[in-house]
Amino acid sequence: MSTQLRIPKPFIDNVREDLRRPHEFAFERVGFTFCRSGTLKSGNLLLPISYNAVRDADYLRDGTVGARIGSGAIRIAMQQALDNEVTVLHVHLHPHKGRPGMSAVDSSESQKLIPSFFNVRPNRPHGALILSEDSAAAWLWTNKQDRPIVLRDVSIIGSPVRLLRREASAAPNPSLIRQSFLGTDVDAILQTAKVAIVGLGGGGSHIAQQLVHLGIGHFLLFDPDVVHISNLNRLVGATLADAVNATKKVDVAERYIAGVNPGAVVERFDAKWQESGFAIREADVVFGCVDTFLARQEVESTARRYFIPYIDIGMDVTKQDGKHYTAGQVRSRMSGYVWLRLCRMQLSHD
Ligand SMILES: [Zn+2]
Repeated sequence: MSTQLRIPKPFIDNVREDLRRPHEFAFERVGFTFCRSGTLKSGNLLLPISYNAVRDADYLRDGTVGARIGSGAIRIAMQQALDNEVTVLHVHLHPHKGRPGMSAVDSSESQKLIPSFFNVRPNRPHGALILSEDSAAAWLWTNKQDRPIVLRDVSIIGSPVRLLRREASAAPNPSLIRQSFLGTDVDAILQTAKVAIVGLGGGGSHIAQQLVHLGIGHFLLFDPDVVHISNLNRLVGATLADAVNATKKVDVAERYIAGVNPGAVVERFDAKWQESGFAIREADVVFGCVDTFLARQEVESTARRYFIPYIDIGMDVTKQDGKHYTAGQVRSRMSGYVWLRLCRMQLSHD
């Protein structure tokens, strides 16, 4: 059973801003982050929903570590955990770049503090979140007695999305050599990234094609439909034989992906995505390539609920005043970020 932590970047930016404020005598500030949870097929998901700064007056002078927080601040955090079904993460900032580690002082202070939260909310894990200037790491206790486990999967949901995966490593992929400018560990990050594509028609099949060439290594494909002859003008990978045999669209996409990268993991769901349990929640990014606004809204609201960046694509050809217009959109949405890109151009015989 693993636990994944997804933190919206605007949330983490606000926490950093609070923790950077100087204090009269405390060398570093601390705070508390409260998380709701979601169930994943592979474990649990922690989603931060609120943050409590510690008031200036709640820091006490201390001869050994400079300053510590008083019982008042801890009681406020405990009350939150008592009132709400939440996980409490004690949070502080290390003033450097790169992955933060837990110091000996952090470890001993956490051992004293974290058990308090099990007294009021024993059915939830609690722990510590340490931020650096550009990264984050978290430790989780599942009960008062056990030693903490370090979370192997922390994501910062922003632009760009940052997947801070501990086990992420991969031999350099020669087919990706031309995109090495993206960074030294990019092959491993792309290989472990899970991308859900809802709808494998004219839009989704192009997305699957582009992503497998880019090096994405894990696909969740959702589409209940089969290939029809009228799809062949736009469905990447589909053949005349697929139309004759009514091949499932997810099978066409899986075949294309395997043809480019046989090592890619493909989970295919040939039913509505809503009927596939928790599967879509696993995704690091969701592409919505569906036909109707209602279908878009459903995918988008699920993505929003689980802090998954959502990218919507769509296009249509309409007739107006005797002319044909093609209109398309690429739109991304994630916690704290909204942007819209629309294009519309007239089709001509050229
Ligand atoms: Zn520390």
